[in-house]
Amino acid sequence: MYNAKAYSAGSATSPLASTTIARRDPGEHDVQIDILFCGICHSDLHQIRGEWSSLPTVYPCVPGHEIVGRVTRVGSAVTRLEPGDLAAVGCLVDSDGTCPECRAGLEQFCPEATFTYNSPDKYLGNVTYGGYSESVVVNERFALRVPANLDLAGTAPLLCAGITTYSPMRRQGVTKGKKVGVVGLGGLGHMGVKFAHAFGAHVVVFTTSPHKKDDAFQLGADEAVVSRNADEMEKHAGSFDFILDTVSADHDIDAYVKLLGRDGNLTLVGAPDKPLSVSAFSLLLRRRSLSGSLIGGLAETQEMLDFCGAHQITSDVEVIPIQQVNEAYERLLRSDVKYRFSIDMASLESE
Ligand code: NAP
Ligand code: ZN
Repeated sequence: MYNAKAYSAGSATSPLASTTIARRDPGEHDVQIDILFCGICHSDLHQIRGEWSSLPTVYPCVPGHEIVGRVTRVGSAVTRLEPGDLAAVGCLVDSDGTCPECRAGLEQFCPEATFTYNSPDKYLGNVTYGGYSESVVVNERFALRVPANLDLAGTAPLLCAGITTYSPMRRQGVTKGKKVGVVGLGGLGHMGVKFAHAFGAHVVVFTTSPHKKDDAFQLGADEAVVSRNADEMEKHAGSFDFILDTVSADHDIDAYVKLLGRDGNLTLVGAPDKPLSVSAFSLLLRRRSLSGSLIGGLAETQEMLDFCGAHQITSDVEVIPIQQVNEAYERLLRSDVKYRFSIDMASLESE
């Protein structure tokens, strides 16, 4: 075991503050990674503030699951990485590797999956601690390769915001000729726009923030709708093949189901705690479907990173020192970030 600097919160109402956590020494299949950048996901905020009744928070909690860093130590049986290599870690740090979900490349649904934070820690007891930290130790299966040509601060958010939007779009066949909606222009939403555009779809952004319209076009949208304007919404009724809903708070999801055409699908990736209401007839009338999606498996996450390398796609980030994390959370709550905060972990050195 060794000690690592980190930022943690001690309760749902306390701010994140500097602390020291224990990390295991790398075992034979493990790699130790010095963290360079960690993105701030709205899930970090939900978790820290104890907003999810179905996923209670164990305190102290060290969030962060959008990790990019450099390998510093490797176990004797590690074959894929060596000290000095760049590596990335997303929302998962372990799974059994043998169950049907793992065999299907869907490690996120493994009954034994260990999430990067707030998940029982098989090695040290208590719970896992995430990327708001100077280093992390994971089994090498969970350390992904980072394309050499990408900006690292903008690559970190790909590990959650990237894969969470890439995966359902691939599954639902988003491609040229399809009309695709993205609801909410935040961390996930702006990645959804970039991917849908890169896949060749006609992309429509739905935002509650009129001032984000220009940015939507810059990011690759073909149209931008202010969702609080009923007339603008009505113009798109029954016309979408696919809509990705990334909204983090309670909202009228039925209004978006009605915008789908026959056999259209709305995939929910946003995770507000309160149940959302959908009219049966909105689904029945055009045989529409409503799905959920949770991040992506390891192979697909690597595929997404490689796609980003090939197409020069990164997240648009505001790079901040860790000392500004509490202020960043307040801005995230106000939908005021362009479009992801990425923490420069060198700032932990002064703690
Ligand atoms: P974010 O950056 O805060 O973006 C959320 C966006 O939703 C905001 O920018 C805003 O966009 C819109 N919004 C916020 N409050 C709203 C309201 N009351 N009504 C309507 N729209 C509202 O958050 P994020 O990091 O992208 O995460 C979004 C959600 O996805 C969170 O709930 C997070 O926990 C969840 N998540 C799920 C997965 C998964 O695997 N399924 C993975 C990661 C995150 P506009 O200003 O454009 O309206
Ligand atoms: Zn996330």
